[in-house]
Amino acid sequence: MLGFLCLEKNLSIHSFFEGADGLGMQFIPWQNVADWHCKGCGYCCKLYSVVLGFPEWLNLTKTFGSQTTIAGLDRFYIKRAHDGSCAFLCNNSRNYFCALQRMKPEACKLWPFKVISEPKYGDSKQAEFDYMGNKLYVYADTMCSGLRCGTPTWDFRYKTLREFAELALGIRQVQYKTTRSTYTDFRGGGQFGLY
Ligand code: SF4
Ligand code: SF4
Repeated sequence: MLGFLCLEKNLSIHSFFEGADGLGMQFIPWQNVADWHCKGCGYCCKLYSVVLGFPEWLNLTKTFGSQTTIAGLDRFYIKRAHDGSCAFLCNNSRNYFCALQRMKPEACKLWPFKVISEPKYGDSKQAEFDYMGNKLYVYADTMCSGLRCGTPTWDFRYKTLREFAELALGIRQVQYKTTRSTYTDFRGGGQFGLY
């Protein structure tokens, strides 16, 4: 079973998207979400700045050069292109996708959910989520068009949210339910997680 310190540590080092141009995030507790599937609209990658953890920043600058990131007052971000979108956002005729793939930052893996160890946006009972005896609080950003409101489906509650919790706790890296599978869209099989 995960210890509380581990939980605190993992959650506290988490980086998140930050709203751009003064746009705030509107969060609802997970119990108001019926389901979530990324539509590949690319909206999140155009609207928000990605905050990087130090190891993520180091990895990115070593691999792609320091010009792909920028330093803020107390944190690092992925650089944004002239149109405001993430420097790693690509698109083809049908979808937007992330060029980082296996190096995708945790903030992007968790989007549009926030998995935290204390209630932060109200409705704490509705946000409570038990993962192997660890009490977590899960909220979703309503800016994401992949959210469907309503009563949580079994699949969302026991598979998708569980995977988000594992990503947040740092006990999982690979994404299945928490990302869009455009490989499936284009070639008929396999997982090729983009968001
Ligand atoms: S996570 Fe949501 S906002 Fe981002 S690309 Fe997918 S559907 Fe669009
Ligand atoms: S998912 Fe990829 S393209 Fe989108 S913001 Fe994150 S790093 Fe950039």
